[in-house]
This record gives sequence, C-alpha cells and structure tokens, in this order.
Amino acid sequence: MTQMDLHRIFDLQYQASRAQTDVPLLVRRERLLRMQALLEEHGPVLAAAVQADFGMRSARLTEMVEMLVLRNLLKHTLRHLPRWSRRQRVRTPLMLMPGRGWIERQPLGVVGVIAPWNYPVQLALGPAITALAAGNRVMLKPSELTPHTSAQLAALVGQFFAPEEFAVIEGDVSVATQFSGLHFDHLLFTGSTAVGRRVAQAAAAHLTPTTLELGGKSPCILAHDCDLDDAALKIAHGKLVNAGQTCIAPDYVLLPRGQEAAFTEAFRRASQRLFPRFAGNPDYASILTKRHLARLRQMLRQAQGQGAHVEWIEDAGARQDGTGEPAWGDAVERQMAPALVFGATGQMQLMQEEIFGPILPVISYDRFDDVVQAINAGPRPLALYWFGRDEKTRDAVLARTVSGGVSVNDTLLHFAHDNLPFGGVGDSGWGAYHSEQGFVRLSHQKAVFVQSRWSAASLLYPPYGARFDRIMGWMRRWL
Ligand code: NAD
Repeated sequence: MTQMDLHRIFDLQYQASRAQTDVPLLVRRERLLRMQALLEEHGPVLAAAVQADFGMRSARLTEMVEMLVLRNLLKHTLRHLPRWSRRQRVRTPLMLMPGRGWIERQPLGVVGVIAPWNYPVQLALGPAITALAAGNRVMLKPSELTPHTSAQLAALVGQFFAPEEFAVIEGDVSVATQFSGLHFDHLLFTGSTAVGRRVAQAAAAHLTPTTLELGGKSPCILAHDCDLDDAALKIAHGKLVNAGQTCIAPDYVLLPRGQEAAFTEAFRRASQRLFPRFAGNPDYASILTKRHLARLRQMLRQAQGQGAHVEWIEDAGARQDGTGEPAWGDAVERQMAPALVFGATGQMQLMQEEIFGPILPVISYDRFDDVVQAINAGPRPLALYWFGRDEKTRDAVLARTVSGGVSVNDTLLHFAHDNLPFGGVGDSGWGAYHSEQGFVRLSHQKAVFVQSRWSAASLLYPPYGARFDRIMGWMRRWL
C-alpha cells in the first residue's frame, strides 16, 4: 500500500459520500447482505487465517467469538435497520406548536476503522458493519500483527465491495499513522490506551470525532457471600479464553482476605476442567508472538523478584508437547500456562499495565470500602466484574465505581448483549458501539424543525412592547 493508494481510496470514498448523502435503506441492506455472504462463504478461510496468525487458536473459538458475534450483529442490525434509520419523531414543546420536530439520522460520510490483533476479524468487521448500516463508506486498517487475517480481509472485502464503499488498507505502523491522519468524518479505533492517545491527537488536527475502544485493568471483585467454585470457573473462562488476550478479560481479582487457599484450589480445578492441559491443547490459544510472551514472563519475574508469590496452574494430566501436530511449530512454546500471583503491589509492572495474558494477580482485601477506594484511585476500567449474592452490595458497587461496562456473577457477557452499548470511559476509551447506540454513534443526528403556517412566533419579534410583555407573562405562567 503506497501513500498514493491510501489517499486515492480516501478521495474516492470522500467524493462518493459527498455525491450521495442520502443512502437509501435498500442500499444499506444490500451492503449488509453482501457482508453476510462474505462471512457465510469465506468464514472458514478467515478462521484458518486467524489460526495461522496465532499458531494455536481453536477454530471453534474463532467460530464463536468472531463469526457468531458478527453473524448475530448482522442479524440484529438487519432486523432493526428500518426503525433505526427512519426519522425519529420527538415531542414538540407547547411554545413551538403547532410546528413539529424530528431527528434525521444521516450518514456521516467516510468512517475509518483501526483494528487490533486479538480478535482480528470481529473487531475489524464489527465496527464496519455498523458504519455501513448507518450509510457510511468505510476504510479499515487491520493489525499488522495478524498478516494472514489482514490479507484475507483485504482480498475478500475487495471481492465483495467496490473500493468507494468499503476498502481494507494493509500495512505497518507507519501506514496506520498516515491512516489516522486522514480527514475522516469519524474514526473508530480499537487498541491500546497509549496508541489511542496518539490516534486522538492525529484526529484532532481535522476535528475528526473519534470512538476509542481501549484497554485497561478490569477488576474482578469477589464478595464474602459468593459461590467460590462458580466464580472461579467463570473467572477462569473469562481469563483463559484466547489465553487472556481479551480487552475485557478480568485483569486481577479482589478477594476477601483468608480465602486465598480456597480460591487457588477452585481456580486450579476450574482451569484444569476447561483445559486439562495447556501445552499442545488446540483449545488453548498461543500468545501471539515471542515478544508478547517475553513481556509476560518478564512481568512475572519482576513480581517474583519483588516478593510476590506465583502459583502456576499445571496441566491436570501428563504434559503433552504437541509433537503429534508438527504444523504448529513454535505455537506450542507460546502456549503459556496460567499463573496466579499473590502479594502483587503497585510498584510491579503487573499492577501498572494491562496484563493481556494468562496471569491473574489476586489482591486480598479486608473491607468493601477498600475495594471501592482502590478501584477509584486508578484509571477507569473497561469492564468490572462482581461476584456475590447480596443485591445491596452489588448496587453499591455499581453506584460507587465507574467502568465501561459490568457483568455481575459472570465475566465478558455484557459484551455479547445485543441491546447494550459497549465502550470504555476515561482511560479505557470513549464512545460506545453495538446496539442502536452504535448506529447513532456512526450517524449524524440532524435536528429538523418544521414551522406551521399558523405559527405565532412572530408575535415575539421586536420591537418589544406591551404585546411582548403580555405574551411573556402568559408563557411564564403556563410553560
Ligand atoms: P495497538 O494499540 O498496539 O494497535 C491497534 C491498531 O493500531 C493496529 O492496527 C496498529 O496498526 C494501529 N497503530 C499502531 N500504532 C499506531 C499509530 N501511531 N497511529 C495509528 N494507529 C496505530 O493494540 P493491539 O496490541 O493491537 O491490541 C491490544 C490492545 O487493544 C489492548 O490494550 C486491548 O485491551 C485493546 N483492545 C480493546 C478492545 C475494546 O473493545 N475496548 C478490544 C480489543 C483490544
């Protein structure tokens, strides 16, 4: 991709968006149906590309967390599109009657989407689906760290869409940097907080509005009355699916002091139930690259060096090294066994950065207030998890903490709820997509007021005098 290609495609889309500001429902539907066909016909090719990028990642996991999510998003969007895209009538205040008002939801124009590597199909095509539904043109920059998936996305989108409708721009960070400098009508970025900051700065040069879907440290609070085995299973699932490389994975656990041994055993049992072995288990994802793995190991070494206790979760049965599957290459070496960390402190990298891997610090607490204070002292998290039975405590957690989203007595699932917006707050991002709110986010909500022939508004025009005072007096009394 040369700089010329990037600008040529942008210009093409920009001109097309200005030539056709009204994108009829039929056109939007047809684009979504093409997207549906792309996924139906080529889902397995995309899944194979994801597998090739990770080394080890179950095709079934990809089917669930990438394809199913997208199919569901398409179905939901197609079902609601007529209602979402029609004029939204609003009540008119007495003062302006008998005029009428409504909101016209218009396409914004050209929407840029920058996607990360961890769910490389879903996080690339999901925002694109919503942007297309809202009648926009879309340029997508997938991650350079998943080259097989990005190349497949580019080829398939090129096959199913004209470049002025939807185009994929492959390339490294330098291309991504140029991409974020284009004069988009909206830029939706999913990735790290550090890069999100740079993207927001680049977009600001053109006053391009952004939606930033970032990361952070998502806490998982266990209350005294929670069912420890059930919580451990759900936390193990939320943490170990994709080997912790999930933006809303529980990052660390806050546990009532005294329950450390019981939690360790419950988490061990739960992990081993989900993944009887780690190395060589095709259900358990590899850490994406050696560099990412080295970072995780370094974090653990540092924590141990500073006095933390690391509890490895071992394979339940005999360790298998995956030699039966030679095609996996070094993917098996990148399958990192989970580790619980006790005694982690704020001085450790582990508690300063989003972990993004199968390491779970467990912090013991004495009082509920300490938990709330600790969470509120840090950047606002993308997700928060609470396990317990007492609804009063649950509501206190909800009221006294601010996070992008919450799942109660489970992990991850608020993401999958069709009618809930998904997004962060503060350092974990801004703006939300999914649901009707995502459609609204990628539309312009144009306010329209239509005056009636019988309007009395001109009675309040200057010159101001006795008539004006009479009407104002009446309005003060009645409005
Ligand atoms: P990243 O920020 O390194 O990269 C994301 C994308 O940004 C890539 O496509 C990359 O090419 C591009 N990029 C890199 N430098 C850029 C620059 N200077 N200007 C413009 N674009 C640039 O993130 P990653 O490592 O791919 O993904 C992991 C991070 O993403 C984690 O922090 C995770 O929490 C977060 N994430 C968030 C969500 C969410 O929905 N909130 C979902 C998945 C991942």
